Amino acid sequence: MSNVLVLVDHTAGVVRKTTAELLTIARRLGEPVAVFIGDNASEALPALGQYGATKVIALTNPELSQYLVSPKAEALQQVAAKIEPSVILISSNAEGKEIAARLAVKLESGLITDAVDVQEGPVTTQSVFAGNYTVKSKITKGTAIITVKPNAATPEAAETSPEVEEFDVTISDAAKTARITESKPRAATGRPELTEAAIIVSGGRGTGGDFGPVEAFADSLGAAVGASRAAVDSGWYPHAYQVGQTGKTVSPQLYVAAGISGAIQHRAGMQTSKTIVAINKDNEAPIFELVDFGVVGDLHKVLPAATEEVTKRKS
Ligand code: FAD
Repeated sequence: MSNVLVLVDHTAGVVRKTTAELLTIARRLGEPVAVFIGDNASEALPALGQYGATKVIALTNPELSQYLVSPKAEALQQVAAKIEPSVILISSNAEGKEIAARLAVKLESGLITDAVDVQEGPVTTQSVFAGNYTVKSKITKGTAIITVKPNAATPEAAETSPEVEEFDVTISDAAKTARITESKPRAATGRPELTEAAIIVSGGRGTGGDFGPVEAFADSLGAAVGASRAAVDSGWYPHAYQVGQTGKTVSPQLYVAAGISGAIQHRAGMQTSKTIVAINKDNEAPIFELVDFGVVGDLHKVLPAATEEVTKRKS
């Protein structure tokens, strides 16, 4: 079986759900080998083994985290030269896509970004034009480098016992041109990460800028908070929480859209949610074409009532 490299997405050794998804996909394509950048690979080992990594290659060179993406692309090139993978899977976030692009140039390989599914072949599926078309593609040259969007697969446990293998990489001066001078985590909200949450409550222009009822309802459900672009552009909520074509793609079990009209660019980021609920005071709002349950009403009344009911039932 050919090797399939998975670049591990982690925060201080805590593996993100997207990596479990990549490993699940990797198992369809060959032998999953995880590449871990950082010096705490041993902490990540149980999580990587749980989803089927057969080996973990640890890249501990400190220069990899001192500079922006160029050294990471160089390092992956060196790993690829050693283990000759048929496929390299990387999370579709801003950093992942930049690494993938640089790596594709170095390896003279084909690259597909933002895959929403990857099957044997590997045949990838992308969702384009705001979700109006799906495109299936196959890379025809070199190692197939694919960046995969969150929620492209349901993580399936496999229980392997991988070993960590340290791998020395040499970083050229040419790759060390942009040094990280400061890196601060976003203030913790205590809520789940947007792209990983099972439940999301999002607010739009209809909130009038008051996200209090949206946050309170989200907290009663243990949910993440999202926002439409109109709310983000108005400065009511940070861009990191924007759902849609130019924001995050989410696919939770339950998506609640409050005061959001349902523009195609918003749908592009949430239409694969399992159950969709909308609260909108306009019964002709386009979002109602998409929903499993709709409430016609003022979110400032509906959300507090729903929060009260959920809280009552939990106690
Ligand atoms: P509106 O369309 O103004 O809708 C507000 C809704 O709230 C209305 O339906 C109204 O009936 C309802 N409402 C008002 N008051 C209340 C109340 N008290 N209670 C209940 N309901 C109420 N948008 C995104 O969301 N994400 C993206 O990533 C994104 N990317 C874009 C990319 C491009 C290239 C372009 C051109 C646009 C993009 N947009 C995106 C913008 C998108 O087209 C819409 O403008 C935006 O989604 C509208 O946000 P909204 O639904 O909050 O606001």
